[in-house]
Amino acid sequence: MIISYDKSDKAVLVLSGGLDSCVMLYYLVKRLDKKNIEAIFLNYNQINLGITRDYAQKQLEEMNKEIRIQYTFYEIQSFPWHKLGFYDEKLESHQLYSLEESLEIKKKTFVSGRNSLIALSAMSRADVSGVGEAWMSVQIDPPEWPNVQSFLVRGPKDITPQWVDRANLLGEVSFQNLVRLRTPFLDLRWGKEDIVELGTELGVPFNLTYSCRYHPVCGKCEQCLIRNRYIVDKGLADK
Ligand SMILES: [Zn+2]
Repeated sequence: MIISYDKSDKAVLVLSGGLDSCVMLYYLVKRLDKKNIEAIFLNYNQINLGITRDYAQKQLEEMNKEIRIQYTFYEIQSFPWHKLGFYDEKLESHQLYSLEESLEIKKKTFVSGRNSLIALSAMSRADVSGVGEAWMSVQIDPPEWPNVQSFLVRGPKDITPQWVDRANLLGEVSFQNLVRLRTPFLDLRWGKEDIVELGTELGVPFNLTYSCRYHPVCGKCEQCLIRNRYIVDKGLADK
């Protein structure tokens, strides 16, 4: 795991309510000794907006019971040009998606520029707060993700090390202070198994993380399948 270059106890963290960013929260507090954290949550009209926002808030409250940290939870305004809310009735019929359907879902639920907008928002917040680093838990998509490779041929490249480099180049010319985007899971080419292992070591409350693309939990989407394989089946959390 990389060493933080910012020796202060401050960090800006993108918190999504999911497992990965919760593990990163615990990593920042327990391994890097950050005591002054500003967490930001982005509302892009995601289908599971309400529930993921609640989980992100619960994670911060739980962390504060264990270790007294200062945190501020900002919700970035929604992108009103994204009209998500796609829900496929096939989910109700216990059928998994075909490869073609999986690609179709990705097209319908694609949020234009999401990771770049999130990264720059977090870096902007860091700049204004005098924090040197903004942290994101992006990772390379797990191999279980159907058709991801063919999607990425046409899709964005915003979960790649090259994307991080470019965000950092923007960081050099966009702000008053030097702000770095930190993405250690991506830097290490970590997959879900590695992240879960770190989370287990750090005592992350996996039950306070939400994975399903929908709400309530469908048990069939890719996010649910991955959660089941790495968390639920190992007895680390409920669905
Ligand atoms: Zn699901």
